[in-house]
Amino acid sequence: MWPADFVPYFVPLKHENASVLNFAFIDDGLLLREDNSLPQAHELPAQARAAFAFGMHGRHECHAYGWSHTQAVPSHLKVVGLRDVFSLLPAEFWGMAARARQMLRWDLASRYCGACGTPTEALNGEPAKECPACKTRDYPRITPAVMALVRRGDEILLARSPHFRPGMYSALAGFIEAGETVEDCLHREVFEESGIRIKNLRWFASQPWPFPYSLMLAFHADYAGGEITPQPGEIEDAGWYRIDNLPGLPAPVSIASRLIEDGIRQIREGSSVQGQTLPFDQYNNQL
Ligand SMILES: [Zn+2]
Repeated sequence: MWPADFVPYFVPLKHENASVLNFAFIDDGLLLREDNSLPQAHELPAQARAAFAFGMHGRHECHAYGWSHTQAVPSHLKVVGLRDVFSLLPAEFWGMAARARQMLRWDLASRYCGACGTPTEALNGEPAKECPACKTRDYPRITPAVMALVRRGDEILLARSPHFRPGMYSALAGFIEAGETVEDCLHREVFEESGIRIKNLRWFASQPWPFPYSLMLAFHADYAGGEITPQPGEIEDAGWYRIDNLPGLPAPVSIASRLIEDGIRQIREGSSVQGQTLPFDQYNNQL
């Protein structure tokens, strides 16, 4: 999440001043000092391929810098992967670093009009680029995805993708299709990946996931029917797990970890939501 006082924007860099937080990336790695503090501008390599201001945190302006993977790391700095930054910096700094990384990618990917190839121009006062020839606008990309932790009595449904590290299982997740509602996507993805039907969707939380542009929307759901049938190529194993016999779980940086922890807590506390129908789910109960 962002700090409470964070104000997002997108403007060219002006003159350096003392009240700046520099989020500088070589490819996907954030440059930090050895003591895990953010570097000053004069400590950074010269000639970034992208540089702009992306918001204010209190009286500090937040600057983003980007270099390609061929850039050497300055001797007094280190490069830390964005996932690892979570354990080194306060959570709200991770949120700002995630915004910086996503905006850097978009800034590089939107330099030419996608419709006619003309170089684009930054719009004044809006985080957007516009083509001077055909007026096509390009806004920062955000790709929504859903995640569902399915509960059946005292068990939860966990699955593993072939891309996960060995032994790790997580909640089911997938990207929303063009024209699809969040609710429809939850039902479709869970059924496609596991053969399981769900009901009683309950909102949990969301998390921007800058790998590279996702916004994950996480829900609890209850089992409604079906037998586990892992989707070939997508899910290599899936099963119902009791909370006293869990497999390896996702790292704490992810919303998957928080969602599963919350599901475990609900089962421990004996809370039951069977039969509960929330407005969010009324449409789907009619399907
Ligand atoms: Zn154009």
